[in-house]
Amino acid sequence: MNLDLSDAELAFRRAAREFLEHQLPEATVRAQRLTTTVFSEYDVSRAWHQILFAKGWAAPSWPREHGGTGWNITERYLWSVECARAGAPTVSPIALTMVGPILMRYGSPAQRERFLPRILSAEDYWCQGFSEPGAGSDLSALRMRAVQDGTDYVLDGSKIWTTHAHYANWMIALVRTADTGKRQEGITCLLVDMHSPGISVRPIHTIGGDHEVNQVFFDGVRVPLENRVAAEGEGWAVAKYLLEFERGGVIASAGLRSELARVASLADGAVADLPCVALEPEIQARIAEIGVDIDALEMMELRINWALRTGQNPGAAASILKLRASQLQQSVSALAVHVLGDNALRWEPTRPLYSLPEREAGDEAVWPVMSRYLNSRANTIFGGSSEIQKGIIARAMLGL
Ligand SMILES: Cc1cc2nc3c(=O)[nH]c(=O)nc-3n(C[C@H](O)[C@H](O)[C@H](O)COP(=O)(O)OP(=O)(O)OC[C@H]3O[C@@H](n4cnc5c(N)ncnc54)[C@H](O)[C@@H]3O)c2cc1C
Repeated sequence: MNLDLSDAELAFRRAAREFLEHQLPEATVRAQRLTTTVFSEYDVSRAWHQILFAKGWAAPSWPREHGGTGWNITERYLWSVECARAGAPTVSPIALTMVGPILMRYGSPAQRERFLPRILSAEDYWCQGFSEPGAGSDLSALRMRAVQDGTDYVLDGSKIWTTHAHYANWMIALVRTADTGKRQEGITCLLVDMHSPGISVRPIHTIGGDHEVNQVFFDGVRVPLENRVAAEGEGWAVAKYLLEFERGGVIASAGLRSELARVASLADGAVADLPCVALEPEIQARIAEIGVDIDALEMMELRINWALRTGQNPGAAASILKLRASQLQQSVSALAVHVLGDNALRWEPTRPLYSLPEREAGDEAVWPVMSRYLNSRANTIFGGSSEIQKGIIARAMLGL
């Protein structure tokens, strides 16, 4: 097997690297380094998204006909490696990775025409309203009601853990339109304007000190029928398709490798003025062990994605990627805390850190290790917990 890059691929990588060198602002890299949450901070991410849009590179995984780059999997992989190396922020993950593919597959022509260009250009920012109090792993238990009234649905109920609902101007939501038959058959997917009267967003502050998630309340919120995706009662199929992209649509190994390299450089004492434990054999062994696991994840990502056409869904295999990537994210963040020891506690829970002047933000060589560690506890919960992923793998892939 020859894993060497072709001349064309090497040229692509050079172009990507050059673009990042010239176009990714230093302040953005600093902000990303000081980001404690999974999604980059909204303003940082949006500014970078606009730069990518101007270049035509906002949607690496979208087909060209919808304004994507049309890159093949090798090019997308190289791009994600270069972005991770350069320290670039995440870009509108819910819109580009999930809502876009949903609209391409299930949206009406009018919905595609209205929403896809605005997602590409960063005019719209989306959140995902699936989970409810009492409906997380058991999503089909969701109760938020949508009752048809003339040309609208009227929504009452609440969504919880909604990431970045406080920034989003649109939500892709699952609602209950019927109680008869199987629970899944009464679920419908709607596109909800977050500025509609009757919506209120209440912050949830998490253990790391972040405001990333929210509870969103709906009190008589009117949503036009034309904002329904697919037919009434087909929301479950739409949701399952979306979750495959949420779990498998991102190449996580590149970011993990950059993070691990950073941990290794801290452990190596390469960062001046930083009192941390020396490179003990135990830490050395752990770095090597996690490194091998990242290599294995990368091979899985490439193998699974290589089988797909651009824009195609990854299927149940997405659960393997989600499971392993989230476990490794926790391993890397736990190792970082271990390496820094007491020094990991130096960060105050002031948010967002990047808005602080440099001296106040602390040693620029460090990144907020403890906050990231605490935040990464959620990785094996959101997008479906590890137990749920294992259940899917057992049933859909192993036939158990
Ligand atoms: C940081 C964060 C961000 C999130 N962002 C969003 C978002 O933007 N939009 C959104 O809609 N949701 C979001 N979520 C919600 C997330 O999808 C749910 O938290 C997740 O699906 C788990 O549901 P739950 O919290 O209700 O836990 P529960 O479903 O109550 O699960 C509790 C425990 O029981 C286990 N369990 C449950 N059922 C089974 C089973 N059948 N077999 C074995 N074990 C089981 C679970 O693994 C877990 O350990 C987010 C969550 C977090 C933590």
